[in-house]
Amino acid sequence: MARRSALWRQGPRVVAYCLASEVVAVALALRPASPAVDRRTLLVLGTLLVLGVVQAETGRRVERNQRRRSQPPHINMTSAWTFAGVLLLPPVLLAVLVAGLYLHLAMRSWYRLSRVPASRTVSNAAIILLSCYAAQAALRLADVEDIRSAVARGWAGTFAVVAAGLTFFVVNALLVLPARRRIGRTPAALFGTWSDNGLELATLCLGAVNALALATLPGLAALVLPPVLLLHRTVLVKQLEVAARRDEKTGLYNTTGWHALAERTLSDAERHSGTFGLLMLDLDHFKQVNDTYGHLAGDAVLRAVAQAITSSVRGRGDAVGRFGGEEFVVLLPDIDPADIGPLAERIRRAVSTLTVPAGQCSITGLSTSIGTANYPTSGRSLQHLLDAADTALYRAKATGRNKVVHVTDVV
Ligand code: GH3
Ligand code: MG
Ligand code: MG
Repeated sequence: MARRSALWRQGPRVVAYCLASEVVAVALALRPASPAVDRRTLLVLGTLLVLGVVQAETGRRVERNQRRRSQPPHINMTSAWTFAGVLLLPPVLLAVLVAGLYLHLAMRSWYRLSRVPASRTVSNAAIILLSCYAAQAALRLADVEDIRSAVARGWAGTFAVVAAGLTFFVVNALLVLPARRRIGRTPAALFGTWSDNGLELATLCLGAVNALALATLPGLAALVLPPVLLLHRTVLVKQLEVAARRDEKTGLYNTTGWHALAERTLSDAERHSGTFGLLMLDLDHFKQVNDTYGHLAGDAVLRAVAQAITSSVRGRGDAVGRFGGEEFVVLLPDIDPADIGPLAERIRRAVSTLTVPAGQCSITGLSTSIGTANYPTSGRSLQHLLDAADTALYRAKATGRNKVVHVTDVV
């Protein structure tokens, strides 16, 4: 029941898209006129399935960590096997390969991880299969049947394989977009960072090498396994680096991450005689929210406030951090000092209009006190600036809360 509702919770647009892509993928898989399947092809299918399952099982710890963190847009290590399938298997067996690999992933998440709903695994598999078929269409366009005919065609075959890889990459990146409930606005949010995409391309390269090995010296296909596992580990290392700088509850920078950015902004400002602003925020009477609605509702308020602050700034390089508890900081590089006050006021208003659902009721009437400071007027070191903003914040609290106090008003 819970699993079924996971699909419907995505909203009608996403549900319709996922179902449509699944229908199209099945229809394409079952299209007639697939060439006869021989023993060698079945052996290739079996080898790819075994390699894919071994990789998924060996990389399980990485995968589990990966799911826990914020999900990267479209990283998929399975393309080392599915893209090899594109270059070696007829459509129907390619569908068996993708279904087999994703069935295994789904079984693992049912029995061990219980995190990924079945409907999601099915739609991921459909999207991968459609990307595979698009890549096969690119091959056919270049009049190449599979990796063997590509080898026979020399350079033309080489370009056809590269074109198929790029088609897989681009089609996959585009097809996953409508399947996401919330679509980001920046290129990185839409299509992933450079390193996410580099990882996907590297996996596709290994898929091509894998196909070449399977078509010539099949035993060498096992050599692809160690680099795939290593690539998978780099995902974890990268995510741990990001996680070390992030606050788990709100996704904002934590103290360490925010300080690192602030120090860099400070030295830039020193070098270029620039300026930057700093806001320190503290929710008013937050303890009452916890006492009235419970700690979980308090956490939901913290997330909503984090979101409200982030969407109020949104400038280039603006960094929002949570210094623990219900205290937030905002770094505003290159801001005109005259604009700091109005921006802080905008944030205060955004927080005051928030409505946060808490069980049957909803929490409204939140308020926040804000202290501001700016470089170099309020201080020349980060500590001095933070002290200045803190003093302003303290004054805001002492003089009635729900207001913005500038550091110049304090001295
Ligand atoms: P003031 O207007 O003076 O800032 O009053 P306040 O109640 O906001 O401040 P106080 O420092 O008395 O209480 C802060 C509360 O924040 C107490 C603590 O339980 C709560 N808190 C700290 N961290 C978290 C958290 O991560 N989640 C939740 N739900 N509450 C937290
Ligand atoms: Mg408070
Ligand atoms: Mg506090």
